[in-house]
Amino acid sequence: MAKARVGLYQTKGETLERTHQSCPKCGPGIFLAEHGNRRSCGKCGYSEAKAAGSSAPKAKPVKPSKPGA
Ligand SMILES: [Zn+2]
Repeated sequence: MAKARVGLYQTKGETLERTHQSCPKCGPGIFLAEHGNRRSCGKCGYSEAKAAGSSAPKAKPVKPSKPGA
């Protein structure tokens, strides 16, 4: 079950708008919706991939291929 990590968002005072990028097509005022690894505009449908930044769940539990050798 994948749960969204809300704690990743940084809310410094009132600068919440910083996490939302405006749509390059619609211009300033129209913000892109934040998704897991991309943003999308709900108005024109524009979408872009987020720059590789931070939370990439690379940690994979390695299971022993030979249990009880
Ligand atoms: Zn747009």
